[in-house]
Amino acid sequence: MNRASAPLITNFGSSLLHCFSFGDHEEDNVLVIEVGNFRLSRLVRVQSACYTGEIFASVDCDCHEQLTRSLELIHEGGGLFVYMLADGRGAGLLTKIRGLALAADGLDTFDAYQALGVEPDPRSYERVVEVLLGFDVDEVRLLTNNPRKVMGLESGGIRVQREPLQVEPTPGSRAYLATKREKFGHYLEP
Ligand SMILES: [Zn+2]
Repeated sequence: MNRASAPLITNFGSSLLHCFSFGDHEEDNVLVIEVGNFRLSRLVRVQSACYTGEIFASVDCDCHEQLTRSLELIHEGGGLFVYMLADGRGAGLLTKIRGLALAADGLDTFDAYQALGVEPDPRSYERVVEVLLGFDVDEVRLLTNNPRKVMGLESGGIRVQREPLQVEPTPGSRAYLATKREKFGHYLEP
């Protein structure tokens, strides 16, 4: 695994940005934003890329709000923000956008992935576990509503205490959040 690190200053504050490269493709990179005394706070967010929400500010999901809220929390008390370059919950951009086309026809994201013959949440967290262990972190307070993410880290030997990450639904994201709650089992307030 190759690695590069540099200081990063954003509107949230100062941090160190690390890139861990597990292969030749862009999606083989895992980015980590390291803030303050993360070993003391043990606060960790693991997020996978959502180009439509995070870059293009699409209103049909909560990814941008989750990104912003978790970066705020991590800059408050220290922590690690781990970013996987794996859009479409790891299924890739082409699949994601095919899913969005089906969603425009009325399917939810779970049924859209089923219609495409793709596992609804095929993300694997092995690289994240490797990165966290590389920081000597084997016990985390994980900002997530996703039970699969908790299990993914725990199966790699990380002890996980879950910290809820609720964001206000927008009119556009309400249906998406309901699908996350009802079909993906996310811990979200109705
Ligand atoms: Zn999104």
